[in-house]
Amino acid sequence: MLYFGGNQRVRFVISGAAGFIGSHLCDRLIAEGHSVLALDNFITGSPANLAHLEGADGFEFREHDVTSPIEASAPVDFVLHLASLASPKDYLNHPIETLETGSTATRNMLELARAHRARFLLTSTSECYGDPLEHPQAESYWGNVNPVGIRSCYDESKRYAEALTMAYHRVHGLRTNIARIFNTYGPRMQLNDGRVVPAFVDQALRGEALTVFGDGKQTRSFCYVSDLVEGLYRLMFSDERYPVNLGNPDEMTILEFAEHVRKITGAAAPIRFESLPSDDPQRRRPDITKARTLLRWEPRVSLEDGLRETIAYFRGLLASSVPVRSLE
Ligand code: NAD
Ligand code: UDP
Repeated sequence: MLYFGGNQRVRFVISGAAGFIGSHLCDRLIAEGHSVLALDNFITGSPANLAHLEGADGFEFREHDVTSPIEASAPVDFVLHLASLASPKDYLNHPIETLETGSTATRNMLELARAHRARFLLTSTSECYGDPLEHPQAESYWGNVNPVGIRSCYDESKRYAEALTMAYHRVHGLRTNIARIFNTYGPRMQLNDGRVVPAFVDQALRGEALTVFGDGKQTRSFCYVSDLVEGLYRLMFSDERYPVNLGNPDEMTILEFAEHVRKITGAAAPIRFESLPSDDPQRRRPDITKARTLLRWEPRVSLEDGLRETIAYFRGLLASSVPVRSLE
């Protein structure tokens, strides 16, 4: 077990804890013997993601919308701010909530950290680079974001959240970290949140056509969630104040990704081309030199292994016919 500032168990407050990444982070922290106050308003997250932690030693859940201030009894050692709408479909349908979570909620979580002299970590995004003109994307690149486009509610609120985090560090001396996360996937993603991994797997398992947007030549790379959690864990104990990219540099086109899904599911599903959403980034690949050097981190799980785990999870969900989520 890791102790911090004395002989006490480390106490974390996590926003967005019932989401995909948040719930895996809770698992890791509880498994290491830490204590976790988990917050979520379930706008996209699900109680099912945390059900197995109910009654676990050190784990507490509070239903709370973090756009309202949050109080926690002392001590708090770490505040991890993950709450956000995260899939393009969700943030396009809820742009104001997205902006509020990046701005007001980030301020509330920073204030909580300040009140407790706790460390703070922000989960930012590769979307800060927009539709990038530099490739691969290193942290030194300032990005190419359309400030009034349909994705701007997400991109600009995350850029604001990064700026606010740096301001709290500079003005209040808060110990902060910023993770710029690139496309991450794994069990507990929401089946119908529109992101390409659950969309293709769902379609393949149902024997439906895979919906490729545009000509499918746009690129992404996919990081398995256990690798991402390891990266976040290393980052939160580091002294790096500037953003650090966390993602998998194994870049492929969306058409190539569709082929992987077809091969691993064994589905003969056809491809159906649909129109490309505006401002959809054309090329994305993280330069992870900084994470490799500073954190000695790099992804370990192959796409094939990660997809097998993810497909098995979604197969189970489809077989159980449990309603996956209410948000549409
Ligand atoms: P997710 O939608 O599964 O989880 C987000 C969680 O935040 C959900 O449980 C949701 O209910 C909660 N939430 C949203 N607004 C809230 C509010 N106002 N109050 C309380 N809870 C609220 O998404 P995820 O993929 O797990 O993403 C987690 C974080 O990582 C987000 O900040 C996201 O921007 C960032 N990120 C994720 C990816 C990825 O590929 N998964 C990539 C880049 C950045
Ligand atoms: N995409 C697709 N079909 C889908 C969903 C997404 O072709 O059903 C494409 C989308 O246009 C983008 C890429 O897959 O180019 C990744 O989309 P996702 O929504 O997963 O995340 P993004 O990287 O855009 O935030």
